Amino acid sequence: MRTALVYHEEMTAARLLWDDPECEIERPERLTAAVERLQQGGLEQRCLQLAAREASEAELGLVHSPEYVSLMRGTQALSTEELQALSGQYDAVYFHPSTFHCARLAAGAALQLVDAVLTGTAHNGLALVRPPGHHSQRAAANGFCVFNNVAIAARYAQKRHGVHRILIVDWDVHHGQGIQYIFEDDPSVLYFSWHRYEHGRFWPYLRESDADAVGLGPGRGFTVNLPWNQVGMGNADYMAAFLHVLLPVAFEFDPELVLVSAGFDSAIGDPEGQMQATPECFAHLTQLLQVLAGGRVCAVLEGGYHLESLSQSVCMVVKALLGDPAPPLLGPMVPQHSALESIQSVRAAQAPHWTSLWQQGSTPTLSLSTCSPERRPSPVSPGGPKCKAAEAQTSAVLSSLLDRLHLCATPPVRTAIALTAPAAAMVLPPDILRQEESAPREETQAWARLHEALTQDTAFTALGKVLHLLNGILDGQVSSGIATTPAAASTLEVVLRQGLSHGAQRVFCVALGQLDRPPDLANDGRTLWLNIRGKEAAALSTLHVSVPLSGPMASRTPKLHSWLPFYGDQRGAESWSSWSRSPHASLWESWPGCCMETPPRAWVPSPWPPQTTCRPWCT
Ligand SMILES: [Zn+2]
Repeated sequence: MRTALVYHEEMTAARLLWDDPECEIERPERLTAAVERLQQGGLEQRCLQLAAREASEAELGLVHSPEYVSLMRGTQALSTEELQALSGQYDAVYFHPSTFHCARLAAGAALQLVDAVLTGTAHNGLALVRPPGHHSQRAAANGFCVFNNVAIAARYAQKRHGVHRILIVDWDVHHGQGIQYIFEDDPSVLYFSWHRYEHGRFWPYLRESDADAVGLGPGRGFTVNLPWNQVGMGNADYMAAFLHVLLPVAFEFDPELVLVSAGFDSAIGDPEGQMQATPECFAHLTQLLQVLAGGRVCAVLEGGYHLESLSQSVCMVVKALLGDPAPPLLGPMVPQHSALESIQSVRAAQAPHWTSLWQQGSTPTLSLSTCSPERRPSPVSPGGPKCKAAEAQTSAVLSSLLDRLHLCATPPVRTAIALTAPAAAMVLPPDILRQEESAPREETQAWARLHEALTQDTAFTALGKVLHLLNGILDGQVSSGIATTPAAASTLEVVLRQGLSHGAQRVFCVALGQLDRPPDLANDGRTLWLNIRGKEAAALSTLHVSVPLSGPMASRTPKLHSWLPFYGDQRGAESWSSWSRSPHASLWESWPGCCMETPPRAWVPSPWPPQTTCRPWCT
């Protein structure tokens, strides 16, 4: 079983017992809706299903004080009035007689998931839990969170399994200040969080949520905060944040385990986040994380209050964990100016700590903090006409996604491999198909006429196999494939032409080594050609980029993050530190979606705390 799914229905027992508009959104249906959707989509059945266990008090003690654990234990015997009184001592928290049990199950589920992944029982997994955890602190409940599930899981992984470096990715729309406080002076845990911030006017209103809060002492550089200063961030903004901030730093950090504080209040439709990212974006984010830590990704549910959006996003994460292809991203892939400002601020704040963020000839154009009153947007006015139009748009998008989730079939073959030497002894993993079939001889002969090299015996045989493999991919029977051939350039040209003739709208070709692009495909507008270790360090054209990786970089594995900006919508961007600025300029003009340049602005210090105008929601 590839993917573990950890859950226990007893985590639905805790509920709000009195009126509290602030807390009523954290309700049991959050879990039941997600589980039902996983069942309907046939996803739960494909996972290794584990029933959550309770974390022991010793395990809770990895993060929390004994006095706090004892206080929480005592809530089981309190009356409703006493529970309400205790809840009032914390910020946006409610207790129920079953809260202690639920919270121990939530933390225990995260530990079970870590055990499953680190012992090899599963490759990756998701723990569906409540209450959430990322706001919880050593001796305080906060923002619906009682025990800090992900922080406990990180300490547990270190202590029980001897893991040295852990990356925590917090894509919940709120800042997980609880996790930050626990690890802020610890270089063994890299904590990345993006969060709705609005220059400090959004809950939890913390100065230390800003980009210039990078950690303390030996932990400096191991806290990465990306504050969103406007609502409405969408797929392009989230992808840009991963490609330009998280992944460069994460590759350099080289984690052995990735924990995800997987809150879905950052998805479209959620009343908390008011963001625009669609559920399939979370499939892409999950896929990107799977290239780290050998794919050992453990996601643990945090927030998410729009049941439809939450359920779909959970399904997308599970599909990605299972290895299914990610559906295409919707909407224009152009990040907003405000998002680019935030990203630039984080890169500037983190550049002293991470060489992967250095940019030759560039200097920070913004202050490290994003708290300038000059850039504050007008206050959000929930419930206005604009809000209603956005809601209508959201429901239309969600219903189309709902249809597609069931229609989007998973190819029966995940990976096929076509080799030129069938007798070659090679042990393949059980889920990889060794393809021996070939395309019909007439079809192969027709394509082989393009190049004399392809008429040679071995190359011709390889071409037949490659064409069969490609037909399988184009027909939706195969997800991905690997092929070997003695005539790489000629075969690649055939593959490109066949893909385009079968209706592919855009083809992204990554060539390692010097490989010439067919001249007539240079300006067709449908093929993006990235040549790593090509002849020249230049953008030969808008759709033809060559990276030599000469000098010190050539002796290292090509930096994966250097070409990641081309991922997604085939929008290029610069991030090669070895490039000079001039060839970049043409790229920036051609691909504004990933341009990292923002206009210089004067820094104006702002008073702290800022005036708060947002509703004090939580988690
Ligand atoms: Zn949240």
